[in-house]
Amino acid sequence: MMAKRVIVVGSFNVDHVWSVARLPRPGETLAGEYGSGPGGKGFNQAVAAARSGAAVRFACALGDDAGGQLARALAADDGIALHVLASDAPTGTAGIYVDRDGRNSIVIGPGANAALSADHVRELGADLADAGTGVVLAQLETPAEAIATAFALAREHGVATLLNPAPADAEVTPGLWALTDLTTPNETEFCTQLQRLGHDADPDTLAGLADDDLHALCRRLLPHGTVVITLGAAGCFVSHASGHLRGDGAACYRQPAPRVEAIDTIGAGDAFNGALAASLARAGEKPFAEHIAHAVRYAALSTERRGAALAMPRAADVAARFD
Ligand code: ATP
Repeated sequence: MMAKRVIVVGSFNVDHVWSVARLPRPGETLAGEYGSGPGGKGFNQAVAAARSGAAVRFACALGDDAGGQLARALAADDGIALHVLASDAPTGTAGIYVDRDGRNSIVIGPGANAALSADHVRELGADLADAGTGVVLAQLETPAEAIATAFALAREHGVATLLNPAPADAEVTPGLWALTDLTTPNETEFCTQLQRLGHDADPDTLAGLADDDLHALCRRLLPHGTVVITLGAAGCFVSHASGHLRGDGAACYRQPAPRVEAIDTIGAGDAFNGALAASLARAGEKPFAEHIAHAVRYAALSTERRGAALAMPRAADVAARFD
């Protein structure tokens, strides 16, 4: 079956990263090693999907500045078709301190990302109507209205919607949940979103829950869809609503990750989402569990490389490493 397009609606940031011996205290000045590069969950996931072999269209908002030019150049390098809202605001930025133990403190300047609008996303209507799009993928670093508009269009045209509910502090409206087919929180995001819906969920005890109990919690988050909780080195937990995307597979199961030499897990979630979207867009009759197995392996391999977007593996690298 022919690969269909993945549309990603999301953020682009220029990441400014300082590697420091320890994180600075209030009022303190420290010296650190500086580097900068592309980031933003939307862009990271778009690159992961493109390098996984999907045709990708990335709807984003960029400023008229060096960051905007960087996004355009890098998207061209990976064959990503941009749908850009040209904003008066500066391109999004992130200031990141990382200490020797890999702990980080991050401040985001949303800039242009906050300007991504429903009207701009509505212009993707033709792409969604032409039967060439397989999946619409979004995260929560751009306004909820824009995402909901893209998901509503996708629903209208029978295109699958994948919501990565990250970062955890961003709210998902009930309307957006209702338009979501598939969601991929990590443990913290899963518990935070459940708590917002008025349910008890504690990230410290989640790992110890029996599969049936975890499945029941997933059903509360997305009663009619599929929930995939990513569990870092432990892989992920998959929970299907009755009949939804399940095929002949179990209603819930764990997919372990391969053992790897992880040196940088930043962006592992983005790798997972991009790879999953790309695999789903090539669906054919493949069982859902095979898409999950691919995403877990792809994300595991991404942790063996330093960096996020620029370090995303290619599909052939995954096959070479694990087949
Ligand atoms: P981040 O916010 O750092 O991008 P995340 O918290 O969203 O990541 P995780 O659950 O940590 O996402 O990881 C996503 C996927 O990456 C996992 O499901 C797994 O496939 C892979 N992964 C992450 N860490 C490891 C590891 N140490 N070993 C193997 N696979 C890993």
